[in-house]
Order: sequence, then structure tokens, then C-alpha cells
Amino acid sequence: MRCDRCPEDAVVDQPYRGAHLCERHFSDSVRERFRRELHRQLPKFSHGTVAVAVSGGKDSAVALALSASYFARRPTVRVVALTVDEGIEGYRPATLVRAAELATSLDLEHRVVRSRDRLGVTTDGMAKAFPGTVPCSFCGVWRRRLLNSAAKDAGADVLVLGFNLDDLAQTVLMNFARADLARMRRMAPHGHRQPGLVPRIAPLATVPEREVYLYARLRGLPFDHGECPHAGAAARNVYREVVWRLEEAFPGTRHALLRSREQILDALDGPDGEGAPGRCIECGEPSTGPRCRSCEYLRVARSTLIEAGGS
Ligand code: SF4
Ligand SMILES: [Zn+2]
Ligand SMILES: [Zn+2]
Repeated sequence: MRCDRCPEDAVVDQPYRGAHLCERHFSDSVRERFRRELHRQLPKFSHGTVAVAVSGGKDSAVALALSASYFARRPTVRVVALTVDEGIEGYRPATLVRAAELATSLDLEHRVVRSRDRLGVTTDGMAKAFPGTVPCSFCGVWRRRLLNSAAKDAGADVLVLGFNLDDLAQTVLMNFARADLARMRRMAPHGHRQPGLVPRIAPLATVPEREVYLYARLRGLPFDHGECPHAGAAARNVYREVVWRLEEAFPGTRHALLRSREQILDALDGPDGEGAPGRCIECGEPSTGPRCRSCEYLRVARSTLIEAGGS
């Protein structure tokens, strides 16, 4: 198959827009979609600090590399890489090495925040203490909290996340299926500022997962292929399968899910919409209840771990 824009062989097909692209035009198109989304989600940003959450996987590797290249033309913008170490043996140590390798190759500051140091808990410790639970529920909540505080510590004006089109389409569908409009409103990318929360943006929002992977491979970015040992229990796996099947049958469904979210929020939101959170009475972070979910989980964790005599 030929590239639509030149005589070269195509390396990717894009059924959702009926296109085929060679390596050069594909790479240009990823950069262009990133640039357009960044500009849309973060308009007129010309000075300040951009933190990029880097897990060591392909998505955040591409988000970091493209952020570094995009802001390289603006010397008044500082880019910092942040990684959370949740304490997951057999997975996190290798990804930390990759994240550090990438940040060093891009000549960027890299900060690692450890759940054990900051919160006194680890995901492995919790999974052991609560064998019947899905670790992603507390692990994801704590990671968001740690990233937010690390971004604040770094003086960041914005936090870039590596979510791709598939990730976001799955999250939109999950929130629809759970009738959770509040969470739909809180998910990245953020339309407006929420007090206490460094705004999160997702400039890879229009790039499908397999294209992010292909771009990372073609650019030779260091990333780890490992999968978290706790991932098997996640509800997201079901939604990943459903979104994949919908996209196969009806190309463009993922983009439509994202547009549905935006249209619903546009219809519901004012600038100070009713979803604007208050503050947690324990940690002071944004919260829709008296205590944030992170502190709720920590209370349960600490009481159980103290009873059990360790983390
Ligand atoms: S898969 Fe779940 S447990 Fe593993 S790092 Fe992600 S959120 Fe945490
Ligand atoms: Zn071409
Ligand atoms: Zn709290």
C-alpha cells in the first residue's frame, strides 16, 4: 500500500479517516496532532513550568519526547519529568530505569516520588493486605495525588499526561456506564482550573494507542514493555475490549466518545460548575466529600496494616 501523500510505502493505515501514511508522513502527523491538541488544551502558554508524568511506558515516553521538542523553541518554558514509584516489584524498577534513561537523553530534570516515602504504603503491600480487592482502585487514586503534589513541588503550571485516544475513550465509556458524570468532568483534559489541582492535559488525546507505539518504536525511544502484575483484575480490561470491538466495527467510535464527553460537559458546565471540588479536611487536596478518596483509602490501609503489623 502506498502513502497517500508521497510515493513511499505506507507503514500505517488509519481506518477512522481512510488514510495510509509512510514513515515520514506518519511521524509528521503524530507531531501535528500532538501540537494541535497541546495548543487547544493549553492555549497561549509561553512561559512557566510544564511537568510531564512519565511511567517508563510508551505513551508517556512519547508525551515527554514531544513536549521537550515542542517547548525547546521556548526558552522561557521549563519541562520537568515526574515518575511515581508505587512499590510494585517485578514491574516498577525496570520502568524507572527507562524513564530516567529517556529524561537524561532529553537533558531534562527527572523527579521520582515514592509512595512508601510520601504515604507510608505500597501497592504491593496493600494488595497483600487486601487480597480480594482490585489494586488499581487505590493505586490510581494515590498516583494522582502524588503526581499532583510532585507537580506543585516542581512549581508546575500544568501536568502533561500520556493518555492516548484509546485510554480516554475507555474512560469516557466507563464513566457513562457507571453514570459518573462527576468523574467524567474531573478526567483529563481539564477544561477549566480547579483550586488545588495542577491542571492536567492529554495532548496525545487524538492519537490511537497503536500509533503511539509505532511512533515510539520508529523514534527509538526507550520504554519498557512490561505489564503491571496487578493489571489483570482491572475493570478497564473489559472496556478496552469493548472499545476495540466498537472501533473495528465502526471506525471513528473512539473520537466520537471523546466528542460526546465534550458536548455533554459544554452543555452542563459553567466556569464554576457544580462539579468544582472543595478541600479534604485531612490533606487539603481537592475533594468532593469531606475527605478525599486518597485519605479514605489511607485510613483503611493504615488501620489494617497496623493490625497486621507491617506494610
Ligand atoms: S495496573 Fe493498577 S495496580 Fe498496576 S500500576 Fe496501574 S493502577 Fe497501579
Ligand atoms: Zn509519505
Ligand atoms: Zn485527603
